[in-house]
Amino acid sequence: MEETPVSLHEMLRRALTAQVELGMGEMIVDGDRPFSERSLVDELETCVKKISHTADDMFGADENVQRVAQYDSVDAHFQAVRDCRLCSLAETRTNLVYGVGNTSADLMFIGEAPGRDEDLKGEPFVGRAGQLLDRILVAIKLSREEIYIANILKCRPPGNRDPLPDEAANCLPHLLEQIALIKPKLICALGRIAAQILLQTSSPLGKMRGQWHEFEGVPMMVTYHPAALLRFPAYKKDTWADMQELKKRYDKFVASR
Ligand code: SF4
Repeated sequence: MEETPVSLHEMLRRALTAQVELGMGEMIVDGDRPFSERSLVDELETCVKKISHTADDMFGADENVQRVAQYDSVDAHFQAVRDCRLCSLAETRTNLVYGVGNTSADLMFIGEAPGRDEDLKGEPFVGRAGQLLDRILVAIKLSREEIYIANILKCRPPGNRDPLPDEAANCLPHLLEQIALIKPKLICALGRIAAQILLQTSSPLGKMRGQWHEFEGVPMMVTYHPAALLRFPAYKKDTWADMQELKKRYDKFVASR
């Protein structure tokens, strides 16, 4: 499938989004139209409200209630969702990209959505960004066989655009069930969109990375998406620091078992 050429406007939007991710606040695009965190924040807040509602419907709003998996195994869940048509992305996907890795993994990486290569292969993080993630894993002495990788969305948004609120709200329950089945001890959110949706916040990535958060009672590190590192290599230094911290806690957990 041929990739749709990215317009100059889209390239500019992505570049400015990256600046916002770094917490640089408002930027002026043209005389009358400020590009700011606000437009992104508004959309995310709508998205987060819908997601919270969906998650509460499924599992109960009490944060202390431990989520109980609805399926017997990851494979049984995959079989149940492989033909999902809950949102319009089902019309344009080549393959649903469920997730890959060790279904008993202690560490789970969560990205935003499949890209073109992932859509074609039906597997997350197989394109250039995926290859970079593999190199990062090797650098911290981990392999794909030890971890599990999934995305917030299981189907590719056309042109790799950001997930729409309804798409994220419809798809998040699939991820929550995966987490309930895999029971990771640590989570690493890759990129701004994944982190904002999981943490139900509108904070820029620059303020979320480099510290521990919690999702579903599981300690969660936030760092840059490998695709962002390909576009902006200057982010690699911070990403390396985040990965070192993640690995330190992972090793401590493994040693304590
Ligand atoms: S993106 Fe998620 S909710 Fe939408 S069709 Fe795919 S699996 Fe279903």
